[in-house]
Amino acid sequence: MIRIEGLTKRFGANTVLDGIDLIIQDGERVVIIGPSGTGKSTLLRTLNYLDRPDAGRITVGDVSVDAAKASRSDILALRRVTSMVFQNYGLFANKTALENIMEALVTVQKRPRDEAEAQARSILAETGLVDKADSYPASLSGGQQQRVGIGRAMAIGAELMLFDEPTSALDPEWVGEVLGLMRSVAERRQTMLIVTHEMRFAREIADRVIFMEGGHIVEQGAPDAIFDTPQDPRLKKFLRSVS
Ligand code: ADP
Ligand code: MG
Repeated sequence: MIRIEGLTKRFGANTVLDGIDLIIQDGERVVIIGPSGTGKSTLLRTLNYLDRPDAGRITVGDVSVDAAKASRSDILALRRVTSMVFQNYGLFANKTALENIMEALVTVQKRPRDEAEAQARSILAETGLVDKADSYPASLSGGQQQRVGIGRAMAIGAELMLFDEPTSALDPEWVGEVLGLMRSVAERRQTMLIVTHEMRFAREIADRVIFMEGGHIVEQGAPDAIFDTPQDPRLKKFLRSVS
């Protein structure tokens, strides 16, 4: 189970996360929607400790971290149980697809190189990229790059996978293959926290949809409830703006 308590993040005078409380069950797929600038990326980034929270506690399975005063080993522990898929893929340009997937296995998980490579090759197979093992990101399509990004996050075997608008930088022709790979990840009952503007995909994949605005969770519920019978005026307005 994942438990987020009082998670708070400020950038100067701007309170971007204002005491977020959230429990996610094992295997649950949670989708976050909301206007831009509302703290969605910051929430994901603090969970992976790419941004340091100002207050709160993050618990993922056996790992429980006082977010404001996490030690280096706390941060590493958190990075072993969470993995992140970025909007702009976040691949190393000077590493091949295979090396990009191996990287986390070697650096975060401290796995021996030959073992990491075998695992990375099996993930390349799952992502449909066996023939791209030795290709560098610049020679891959956007869809292929993001599949490598998802493969890298899969490799960590994290309890919680975080996806920050994984299709929003893609040309429309590549969106389908990336959503398809996310569906196959979801089918394994992988716990997923996904920020997306793909409302149809959200409705299809989510066990729960969370609407965030202004650093708060404003409304949450089953996809049908959120999309068909929204309650809060801010959610109604947001849904009108994206439909
Ligand atoms: P969303 O993902 O919902 O669009 P973000 O989490 O990216 O929103 O940003 C929320 C707010 O935090 C915005 O006002 C943004 O300008 C601010 N912000 C995000 N990252 C930084 C940063 N590194 N430094 C200063 N302000 C930031
Ligand atoms: Mg964002």
